[in-house]
Amino acid sequence: MNRPWLFPGTIALLVLVPTLGRAQDVNDLQAKVAQQLETLRQELIDVRRDLHRHPEVSGEEERTAGIVADRLQKLGITVRTGVGGHGVVGVLEGSQPGPVVAFRADMDAVTSDATDPVEFRSLKPGVRHICGHDIHVTIGLALAEGFAAVRDQLRGSILFIFQPAEERATGARAMLADGVFRDVKPAAIFAYHTAPFNVGQLATASETLMAWRDRVRVTLSGTGDLAAAADEVRNRIRDVGTVSQERAAEAAPYDAILVQVGRPRRGSGGTVVVATISTANLGARQLVEAQLAQLDFEDVSLRISYEEKWVAGVTNDPELVLQAQESVASVVGPDGVTLLSNVNPAFSEDFGSFQQEVPGVMLFLGVSNPAEGWVGMPHTPDYVADEESIFVGARAMSAVLLDFLNGH
Ligand SMILES: [Zn+2]
Repeated sequence: MNRPWLFPGTIALLVLVPTLGRAQDVNDLQAKVAQQLETLRQELIDVRRDLHRHPEVSGEEERTAGIVADRLQKLGITVRTGVGGHGVVGVLEGSQPGPVVAFRADMDAVTSDATDPVEFRSLKPGVRHICGHDIHVTIGLALAEGFAAVRDQLRGSILFIFQPAEERATGARAMLADGVFRDVKPAAIFAYHTAPFNVGQLATASETLMAWRDRVRVTLSGTGDLAAAADEVRNRIRDVGTVSQERAAEAAPYDAILVQVGRPRRGSGGTVVVATISTANLGARQLVEAQLAQLDFEDVSLRISYEEKWVAGVTNDPELVLQAQESVASVVGPDGVTLLSNVNPAFSEDFGSFQQEVPGVMLFLGVSNPAEGWVGMPHTPDYVADEESIFVGARAMSAVLLDFLNGH
């Protein structure tokens, strides 16, 4: 971690400012941002509930993007719309020169027919925000409000990225292909994902936070017994999960993988088996290919191709993780932020595509509240997020961004 060089005469100041050895003006800025969030508390909750009532699936985020662009423009933020679909990019320039740092929020919702437990339930049948992207968007807008209120004292710029189509794992790549960093390239990028920790608790991990993913397609053709061969292919791919778990016990815990194998179906060129493999490293793909290479059928040939190859995992920059951890701790206390040591192979997130261009950190933001019976496990039918997470999240992220801009 980089700290500013301090003159001996500043020791008295340090006693007054114990957190982070931060300059007093940065602490003042952070307090002003926090004050603005409190002033706008009800308005931000209303924004979140409006987004929650009007969820939009991947590729259809027109209304959400319109609300985001409007609010950013009203704050005097330079806005680009239609970036990689319904993506919105805003640049808030501070009054003093300095680095650029980005915050990314995804906007899309999920299909679900289950009844929404909250009063402000989805008005769109079959679509709900059960991954918390309405919380992410609201935090992005809260940060824009907070930083716009202090822009005349702000050093550097903040790039706000509101991303479409995360659930389809295509939005980040589409925004990159459409030049999301064309005009302004950040030196670092940060993001949240809601998680079933208690509200007030955050977590992250150095390097792998979420899995990489392949979707492999095996096509069987020939005059032999295609059905029997397809069953054997499915068994061999499933074995990859077991083999990998055995390896994980003795090698890297990040080797853990999740394998989902579809039923065989008729496709172009023969019988097709499709499997999704989530992993933290390249080893799983090599295992799949090695397993299939051992198969030898009479009058049946195999062809391996990939419907998705290497959807980027969320891979955090270790140095930035340490910085972010300290910044977040200044808001929620040292016990409020945990460093995880295990990747969850059930989840992936295309934030990883941005991290291939710019070093960054994704943090899990706790949204559960056991006293109320609210559990924020993404993609579960009873998903409920405590709205206090908007304010905890925005305060903590404002500290992360301010510390980055001011050289911590
Ligand atoms: Zn999500």
